[in-house]
Amino acid sequence: MINEKRVRLLQKGNETNGPVIYWMSRDQRVHDNWALLYSQKLALEKKKNLGVVFNLVPNFLGATIRQYGFMLKGLQQVESELKKFNIPFFLTQGNPDFVIPRVLNDLNASILVSDFDPLKIKRIWKRDVAKKINIPFFEVDAHNIVPCIFVSNKVEFGAYTIRPKIHKALPEFLDEFPELKKMKSSELQSEKINWTEIINSLEVNKNVKEVDWIKPGEVNAQISLKEFLDNKLDKYSEDRNDPNKNALSNLSPYLHFGQISAQRVALTVEQFYKKNPSAEAFLEELIVRRELADNFCYYNPKYDSFEGFPDWAKKTLNDHRKDKREFTYTLEEFEQAKTHEELWNAAQMEMVRTGKMHGYVRMYWAKKILEWSKSPEEALRIAIDLNDKYELDGRDPNGYVGCAWSIGGVHDRAWTERPVFGKVRYMNFNGAKRKFDVQSYIDKYIK
Ligand SMILES: Cc1cc2nc3c(=O)[nH]c(=O)nc-3n(C[C@H](O)[C@H](O)[C@H](O)COP(=O)(O)OP(=O)(O)OC[C@H]3O[C@@H](n4cnc5c(N)ncnc54)[C@H](O)[C@@H]3O)c2cc1C
Repeated sequence: MINEKRVRLLQKGNETNGPVIYWMSRDQRVHDNWALLYSQKLALEKKKNLGVVFNLVPNFLGATIRQYGFMLKGLQQVESELKKFNIPFFLTQGNPDFVIPRVLNDLNASILVSDFDPLKIKRIWKRDVAKKINIPFFEVDAHNIVPCIFVSNKVEFGAYTIRPKIHKALPEFLDEFPELKKMKSSELQSEKINWTEIINSLEVNKNVKEVDWIKPGEVNAQISLKEFLDNKLDKYSEDRNDPNKNALSNLSPYLHFGQISAQRVALTVEQFYKKNPSAEAFLEELIVRRELADNFCYYNPKYDSFEGFPDWAKKTLNDHRKDKREFTYTLEEFEQAKTHEELWNAAQMEMVRTGKMHGYVRMYWAKKILEWSKSPEEALRIAIDLNDKYELDGRDPNGYVGCAWSIGGVHDRAWTERPVFGKVRYMNFNGAKRKFDVQSYIDKYIK
């Protein structure tokens, strides 16, 4: 059963006799996908065909071949998996406000369904598409366990305010997914996609190379989940702040591209690993922290700028704007890992080489960008630019919030006042040294 609270009618319209179309965007998977399940439910109830469209934009917030490659290989698996269910998959290219209405028209679509995304650009796409179509248009939150719009109607102050709301709603929303059904074969057919041609034709930055330690797609995401739960969850609480220990789930690239559902991850933990002492700590990150990030981006459209910081943080950063900085670096110097500090340089190199900086180090990395930049605005811009260029999981609400937490005190509180940071929480090298063997980490990435 699909909880209707996950579904929102974005725009009314007149149904035709044609197929129901799911415009897949954030949730790029076939199984455990509420948006696809809802599209199928509509199609079956109304005895219509069902199709899935993914529209590839030529340039998405500075994404490089590293992220495009990961995404397209995942989508290739989506195409073949959908085929088993007789659901045609269409890959279109161009600006969505132009392409999606045209495709809907060509297919004589009757209803449009899409998935939920709090980011500005995705909301603009949907708004612009809605203006050009006159069929019903639904949005389904297939990413959050507790739908973002349901859990709260305002920006939450922090984990402590959203946590009780999420926990209260979990018994209702952390439910098992129905299975996707095989559709009767229909006249709606898609052409086989030439993926190599598509990848070769991309005009994106190809200098940031793809990485091979993590394999894209829904099947690989499930394998990674199993591996994490069987071999690493035990030690998650104890070891998660140590970048020398391979203790994290590495699920963020899969979660970002929707190649795995956070709800499936949580259900598996709840069902089979609940007694594990680390389960609670992991679920706090996976559910509360992740869904808090969606809440921030949805209700605060300035999530990627200084103006989006809380008032106390803006004030204190303004008070310390003119403080002397011992070191300042440009974007290029940061990017090339040319700071005076080996730990910071190692973190940058971990990200550049692997496409995934360790979670604990990410905080330190962004805090130092604030300390060594001319202004908090510049620090935020540099942190977001580098994060989104190199991280496989970049351009995610978690990324915008992670940068805003580190630099602008978002979801944090005021601490003891000090130069440059004001009352924004400070992190230093000695703190890192107490948490892990800094030298081993440095040796791994820059020696
Ligand atoms: C400066 C900075 C930048 C960041 N950039 C990104 C980014 O671009 N994309 C991204 O997904 N995350 C980002 N994070 C959040 C966090 O560091 C990553 O989600 C985490 O390191 C991903 O690795 P994992 O899946 O192995 O984590 P695990 O520890 O195994 O966590 C499992 C899942 O829980 C969620 N989670 C964990 N930590 C956080 C957190 N602090 N906030 C919100 N959700 C969390 C993620 O979905 C993660 O995949 C950033 C944090 C900071 C401080």
